[in-house]
Amino acid sequence: MASKSHNQNSFQIPSNEFSLSNTRHRQSAPPQQSTTIAQKLAAASVISTRRVEPDLPSPPSEHPHKLPDSKSSGRLCVFRLVAAAAGVLLTGDSFVRCGMVMVTARILLSDMVLVRMRKVKGIRVLDMGMVWKKEWKLITPVIKASIPIPKPTKFNQEQTPFIPFSQLQHIKHLESQLISTLENCTNLPQIKQTHAYIIRKCLHQSSYITAKLIRTLSKVNIPMQSNGVSIFSQVNYPNAFLYTSLIRGYMIDKLFKESVIVYNSMRRDGVIPVSFTFTALLKASASEMNLNFGRQIHGESLKLGGFGVDLFVGNVLIDMYLKCGWLDCGRKVFDEMPERDLISFTTLIDAYAKAGDMGSANELFVKLPVKDMVAWTAMVTGFVHNAKPKEALEFFEKMQSEGVQTDEVTLVGVINACAQLGAIKYANWVWEVAKKSGLSPANDVHVGSALIDMYSKCGSVEDAYDVFKCMHEKNVYAYSSMIIGLAIHGRANSAIELFEEMVKTDVRPNDVTFIGVLTACSHAGLVDQGQRLFKMMEKFYGVKPCVDHYNCMVDLLGRTGRLEEALKLIQSMPMEANAGIWGALLGACRVYGNPDIAEIGATHLFEMEPVNIGNYILLADVYAKAGRWEDVLRVRKLIRKKGLRKSPAFSWVEGEKGVIHEFYAGDTTHPRSREIIESLENLVNRLKLNGYEPNLSSVVYDVSDEEKRRILMNHSEKLALAYALLTADDGSGIRIVKNLRICEDCHLFMRGASRVTGREIIVRDNMRFHHFRDGMCSCCNFW
Ligand SMILES: [Zn+2]
Ligand SMILES: [Zn+2]
Repeated sequence: MASKSHNQNSFQIPSNEFSLSNTRHRQSAPPQQSTTIAQKLAAASVISTRRVEPDLPSPPSEHPHKLPDSKSSGRLCVFRLVAAAAGVLLTGDSFVRCGMVMVTARILLSDMVLVRMRKVKGIRVLDMGMVWKKEWKLITPVIKASIPIPKPTKFNQEQTPFIPFSQLQHIKHLESQLISTLENCTNLPQIKQTHAYIIRKCLHQSSYITAKLIRTLSKVNIPMQSNGVSIFSQVNYPNAFLYTSLIRGYMIDKLFKESVIVYNSMRRDGVIPVSFTFTALLKASASEMNLNFGRQIHGESLKLGGFGVDLFVGNVLIDMYLKCGWLDCGRKVFDEMPERDLISFTTLIDAYAKAGDMGSANELFVKLPVKDMVAWTAMVTGFVHNAKPKEALEFFEKMQSEGVQTDEVTLVGVINACAQLGAIKYANWVWEVAKKSGLSPANDVHVGSALIDMYSKCGSVEDAYDVFKCMHEKNVYAYSSMIIGLAIHGRANSAIELFEEMVKTDVRPNDVTFIGVLTACSHAGLVDQGQRLFKMMEKFYGVKPCVDHYNCMVDLLGRTGRLEEALKLIQSMPMEANAGIWGALLGACRVYGNPDIAEIGATHLFEMEPVNIGNYILLADVYAKAGRWEDVLRVRKLIRKKGLRKSPAFSWVEGEKGVIHEFYAGDTTHPRSREIIESLENLVNRLKLNGYEPNLSSVVYDVSDEEKRRILMNHSEKLALAYALLTADDGSGIRIVKNLRICEDCHLFMRGASRVTGREIIVRDNMRFHHFRDGMCSCCNFW
């Protein structure tokens, strides 16, 4: 064995390695005691590619296969050629089955012909790609055109051969040519041909070429296990890049253990890792969420050459810690990095946004010297995920004014922000931006589905339907968004019709589609149809009912007053009922006045959500309806004892020029507050003439009736309505979004207001849409 004296960590290796391996083979030292098939074959192929001169020594006698025979140099050549062919087959799937030199008889026979020709004319005939592909017609002209083999250079066998500078340049050039050829390979046959050429040119010992070969194999999704390992084991002195390419290959194949084994053997062999080794290993531990291993590699990276301060390693380290849920450690790595780039910043901004810490995210964003689309998008979607739609829209506006490009992710984020806010004017603007960015819903199904969702959440189901109609490709998401849109607006029949249309086309409904269509049935009180669909979903469409589907069913049964049936369904569920289901049951009990079942639901709810005041209020309402005043008092005492307060209620309404105005209960901070109160008083007086009387039971606090009236008049949605009446165009509809459930008094108030003003008032609370028109509501007073 030649000594491992060469520098494994340098880019200058190829030529050196080339010469080293050449020396070894010219010395014709017996190949090392082979242990694996791959190694044996590698040895065999190495010999054969070099063995182009008949006067070279025969393979060692301890070679396990008996084919070579000193008596017959012709047969020897056949063996060598076949071995070379098998070397090419290393990359093939059939390699293992081929074994040592178990190449098919056909290749053997045909090669004999070639060998004979070579012997006669004394020329090199190896073109392994052609041999492998058995393109005999092509091979013949190659043989004819082959260059005669130069005579071996005479040199002292103990010395490193002298390779003239010109030849060195040539090898380097060839190496880079082969690397770029591999870069362009798109399938296995191409790779095999290139590999054959590499072997022919004796460059198969070059770690750089072999590393590229392995990377190309993983690029075309060839598993590492057989092919990558075979190629790797051919190289006698793999350098850090080659080890890394194998580690990376295993990582892509999701074979974490194997990549760790390769790293261990690399360290045992004394090969110093490069920064890419650490990035590959850290990525593997991030995808495995293996924090312990990630931390070990972090330690190794600091110990071995201080890669901890490397930009790429640092970025991957941040990502690894964040994926494993260690935000603080990720931040520490970031703070200690001497150099940071956009990726370092954006990774951390994204993590803060996901953790709900928009303050820290913004602080980093401000520090970012050059802000690109990804960074802006991280901020916009961060605000959306943290239910701060107003801030998200502000950021998007800034992003637009700075001329930063918009992509699908940004747009879907902004569209979601509009949906959260119910801001229809903004929504129209976003649609314009989408069209300008070439992401029109007609062509982009994600943007289209998001727009449908946005318009239906903004209360404009007609606009949503317009988007749906213009989409060229309608997938299950588009259909589901549209069905849900129709359902939450109480257009049950249209939703069910659309579902039937969808089933007729090739689009297969998913779990979300069924939530939509079951919601539609529940809004329209279509119990039989709902039950039929519920039974059908698993049987015909393979969609297993989840908690949300049961929620729809409980809602459906509850709405139609089948409270016992609803309770039975909950008790028969294969999974635990969640708060939503018990809440739906309690809500139904309020409408149909069933205190017994309400108590069962409330007991579960109080356990699951001990501080949600809404549940206590619902129970108190049920008791009040049944005239059980003592129980009402008991629940109110419980609320006081627990110190529960309603979470602050907010309402949003779009004013002039699409500006969003936010009102909280009893808000007097608005610049036009005085006018708003006047407008509200006016409206109340007109309503009172129409028979409106405030519903004092909507106030849970134990205060005087006068105080209750005052509290009710200050509810945020009423203030929002009063403001909208001041600013809205004549006869136009008014859209209000509320963060909590609308109270009974406000519901009554809105109904009356829609009649006396002749306007359509749309209120979206946290449960559903209420379309108030001519004194009626689309929810049929059930919410
Ligand atoms: Zn109210
Ligand atoms: Zn309603």
